[in-house]
Amino acid sequence: MNATTEQDTGSARIALVTGGSRGIGRAVVARLASEGYDIGFCYRSDEQSAALVVKEVEALGRRALARKVDVTDRAEVKAFVEAVEDGLGPVDAVVTSAGITRDNPLVLMPDEDWDAVVRTNLDGTYNVIRSVVFPMMKRRGGAVVTISSVAGVAGNAGQTNYSASKAGILGFTRSLAKEAGRHGIRANAVAPGFIETDMTAVLTEKAAKDMIGKIPLRRFGQPEDVAALVAFLVSDQAGYITGQVLQVDGGIEL
Ligand code: NAP
Repeated sequence: MNATTEQDTGSARIALVTGGSRGIGRAVVARLASEGYDIGFCYRSDEQSAALVVKEVEALGRRALARKVDVTDRAEVKAFVEAVEDGLGPVDAVVTSAGITRDNPLVLMPDEDWDAVVRTNLDGTYNVIRSVVFPMMKRRGGAVVTISSVAGVAGNAGQTNYSASKAGILGFTRSLAKEAGRHGIRANAVAPGFIETDMTAVLTEKAAKDMIGKIPLRRFGQPEDVAALVAFLVSDQAGYITGQVLQVDGGIEL
């Protein structure tokens, strides 16, 4: 799919969101569109979900540009960023939500699962932000929000690959904040706990129950809980916040 919609081009801000077709990314797209952003988003394969998200953005009176892009592919990412800038305008905010899990105890970890997770989550974050930030620097402004995980903060058994990729995102984001702050760019990481999406739908009933026992608020979060924080972080209200890791996790202790 390769869709751009024509709507009010007013004085919209532009946001670029990866993994915008489902889950947390989709909620971020909807929330930012409701706050007046035009949205460029990418997804890996689920065209049907992406088409629904385009409709959601259109229904809010904003423009949407959706592209099928694998974030591990640098050339595709570069072309996507250029397409968003050409089609919608200069990107004010970038949110990297594309991510996968391939859980296994370390001693049983297939090399391909290590590679797939690190390439998608960590390299994918680098690929996108590498392409977006330079033009932002030239314009002397922009907000970056990376999606990490509590597993990247605290570690989680069975997720050495995922936790390493998500901890890498934290180092990346903090370093970017130090490097790009003088160019007017803020960079923060959001670390969700357990959020109800397709990613966590694979948990067994017992695993889900055990996990809820570790959450003081006694429930999983919703994608909208994460989107609300992302919307705050990209907004001017967060104008003096950078280099931070903010957890949206119901108080979970892993
Ligand atoms: P999800 O429902 O599985 O959605 C994943 C999204 O990422 C989809 O839009 C998917 O596209 C896209 N994607 C996956 N690999 C991609 C690739 N190589 N290139 C481009 N797009 C790709 O996952 P989610 O639960 O919303 O998770 C979103 C982010 O939050 C991830 O980074 C995840 O690690 C993080 N997170 C989630 C939780 C949680 O409990 N759910 C907790 C902590 C952190 P398709 O639809 O085309 O497949």
